[in-house]
Amino acid sequence: MQVNLLNKLMMSLVPEWAREQKEFWEAVRRRNLWTIKLRYGVVMALSVVLLFSTLILKINFTTTQLIAGCAITASILFYNILLHRLRKYIKLDVNKFNPIYLSLLQMILDLVSLLLLVHYTGGIESPLYILFVFHMIVGSLILPGVVVYTLAIIFVALFILIIIMEYIGTLPHHPINGLFDVDLYSNINFVLAYLSTFTFMIFVSVYLANGIARQLYRREKDLVESIKKINVAEKEKQKYIMGIVHELKTPIVAVASYIDLILQKFLGPIDETVEEKLVRAKNRTDEGIQMINDVLNVSKLNLYDKFDEEEVDIKELISGVINRRKAYADSHLIKIKFNDERNKPEKIKGDKFLLDIAISNLVGNAIKYGVDGGIVDITLKNEGNSVLIEVCDDGVGIPEEEKPKIFRDFYRAVNVKKISTEGSGLGLSVVKKIIDRHDGLIRVKSPSRLAKIGQPGSCFTIKLPFHREKRDESSEYPANDVEFESS
Ligand code: ADP
Repeated sequence: MQVNLLNKLMMSLVPEWAREQKEFWEAVRRRNLWTIKLRYGVVMALSVVLLFSTLILKINFTTTQLIAGCAITASILFYNILLHRLRKYIKLDVNKFNPIYLSLLQMILDLVSLLLLVHYTGGIESPLYILFVFHMIVGSLILPGVVVYTLAIIFVALFILIIIMEYIGTLPHHPINGLFDVDLYSNINFVLAYLSTFTFMIFVSVYLANGIARQLYRREKDLVESIKKINVAEKEKQKYIMGIVHELKTPIVAVASYIDLILQKFLGPIDETVEEKLVRAKNRTDEGIQMINDVLNVSKLNLYDKFDEEEVDIKELISGVINRRKAYADSHLIKIKFNDERNKPEKIKGDKFLLDIAISNLVGNAIKYGVDGGIVDITLKNEGNSVLIEVCDDGVGIPEEEKPKIFRDFYRAVNVKKISTEGSGLGLSVVKKIIDRHDGLIRVKSPSRLAKIGQPGSCFTIKLPFHREKRDESSEYPANDVEFESS
């Protein structure tokens, strides 16, 4: 009940836009880690200062001061280790113990430790009191303003209480030997001047730091909104392109089917020269349709936010692709071989529609960049907890220096531009995006294992995990998901 109330209070203080923003929570998480690491440094510094001032500067700390100093340093180290561990288990869940609570807990523990340290190093005469300002600034950058002001009021009040109790003698005073010649803590004018300046300094620091943090949050919010608007506009543009491109496809598909009708001699016999020209015309229209499909696939992929997680029978999917591509391969006298070398045919989890586009693209390229009478060899293997789909050809191959570039949008290698194959340069970029979405890897090797003289060929290998781990909010796509091999 109380946790709920506290949660409601804390969340009402976090800007509305930030609650659903992964970036905001990530920033709080990162700042938490930063303060935890900083605290290890503080523990080191405190230990060094204690040793240095006792052994080198020969400051005569009292036994109470030494015990308190060591105990406070040890307890900071202890709670820091606990906080460090706790941080790993804290999820970015607005309704649970989330990173904001960890920031608050850290700040309270630090302020209590500092209050004790200040008390045992001379109270009002302690050189450490300035560190309160530092804590307030760090707190203001992470926590909501009202929370930091409340903490500032509580801790300034506690500090004033300790100073007054030391002044009236209800709390022992622990001065550092040799720091001041006179007792300042019992000088009422000094105490009043000091406390008022201290209070003023704390609240001005909180006010300034909070103002800057608020401005930063506002800017971030504007930025997030602008990005959202750009994304909406981009999607509209994609839809518009899809509409036009789709319209273009209709007449070309109609032309292709008329040519088919003539070629299949449904309209009567045709002579050989006409037939040869028509076969060429059919191939060119098929290439045109493939290019249109590439553009449509890119647009669909960009618009396609949903990702269907279903069991995919990869063998069945490849057989479907081969059936669809067979006529095209036959027209170039290219033989498609398919070997399933898996010891255990396991289904994989993924999006069937997207995987079909990816494999179809690789097989289509292997035929397109193959040579007449050549081979396309598709192999299915298991490797650890993944399945490997290898599509090899004995075609034109890919020049060494071009391999890193072929996955970019619109990129076509120089060797294929010279031969007159058509293409959009979009297919492989779509394939890579799809494989990324499946947490997979794509590898390209040229010359391939089918290389012949003058026909280096290429092998594209896709590696897909059987089971995709549910992606953690903070995890990123694998950075190096394209590999290049020369032989
Ligand atoms: P497109 O085939 O429409 O040009 P892709 O994105 O599918 O576009 O391929 C990009 C480039 O990669 C191709 O233009 C070609 O240079 C090269 N490429 C892809 N697959 C092969 C292959 N099997 N053999 C030789 N080159 C290939």
